[in-house]
This record gives sequence, structure tokens and C-alpha cells, in this order.
Amino acid sequence: MSTVMSFKKPTRKSTRVRERATQNQPFSQNSVNKTARIKGATEVHSICPYCAVGCSQLVYVKGGKIIDIEGNPGSPINAGKLCPKGANTFQLSTNPHRVKHVMYRAPFSDKWERRPLAWAMDRIAQLTKEAREEGFVETRDGTLLNHMTNVMSLGGATMDNEENYLIKKLLNGGLGVVPIENQARI
Ligand code: SF4
Repeated sequence: MSTVMSFKKPTRKSTRVRERATQNQPFSQNSVNKTARIKGATEVHSICPYCAVGCSQLVYVKGGKIIDIEGNPGSPINAGKLCPKGANTFQLSTNPHRVKHVMYRAPFSDKWERRPLAWAMDRIAQLTKEAREEGFVETRDGTLLNHMTNVMSLGGATMDNEENYLIKKLLNGGLGVVPIENQARI
């Protein structure tokens, strides 16, 4: 069975009704005046800090502050897309819940205590020194080793090249730490 459709020739009245509908848009002047949040922002190319896929991101900066982070459509890796974690990179840099001071939990304690940064730095340095004195091996069976295997370093993918360079230089070259690991593979 076939259906035959017929179209009426528009009359002058129906044309007027259509024109009026087009002119009277269902937007308030306030909505019409709105612009995209990223309008006027500086676009900075970056890479998602979370994993080794290395998706490209566009970071929008306005007034010295990051206002948005999106996938970069020009990237051959992610073509503008980001996974749910990468799509929330904005929270990494702009988050009111981020802890900005040192929190310390003493051995066997059930609570965290706030401590000054200088105190934490001294404690880390002291414990590292003690561990190195305990675990450093200069030679074994006549072979020069100059290493320690009782300390390891585990880095996160949010660390950038410069931080990883310093970690490698200080821990491996300076202290002789052998196990140095990082999630990022780029
Ligand atoms: S967007 Fe997702 S898949 Fe891409 S680098 Fe970030 S975490 Fe990895």
C-alpha cells in the first residue's frame, strides 16, 4: 500500500503566521545577551595529567585563573574527547576541598594532626637519612654498587617532566635509590 502526500500551496495568511513565529523567539533578552563562558579566554594547550594515554587538553585561562578544561579536537590521540576522569581535570586545579597544609598521623594514632610544612620537610629528611645509613651498600663481592634498596619512590601521573627529572636526579643519582616508579609513560 502506498501513501500519497499532498502539500498545500502556502497562503498569504500562513506565511504571515510563520514569519511572526520566527521573529518572536522564545528567548529572553537576558538569554540572547549571554555568551560562552570561554569567550575572551586564553587557550593553552596541555596534556591530561592522569594517565599514560596522553590525551590533549585545551585549558582556558581568564584573569590569571583557569576557568575551563576541555578535550582538544585537534589531537590525533583523543580527537576532542576525554574519559570521565580526564573530563574532570578542572577539579584538580580548582577545588575548594583540596587540603593545602600538612596532615600527620603518628604511628598507632587514630587521628590526623595539622603540622607546619617545615616540620614535615625536616622529618622526611631525617627519616630518609636514617634509612640510607641503614640500607646503603657501597660494594658487594668486590663490585661497586653505591645503592640502597630499602627505599623506593612511587610517583603519580600528575607530576610533570621537571619534577620527574629532579626525583630521578636526587633519589637515583644522589642517594642511590634503585626502585623508582611512575605511572606516566610519556
Ligand atoms: S582523558 Fe582519560 S584516557 Fe585520556 S589521558 Fe586523561 S585519564 Fe587517560
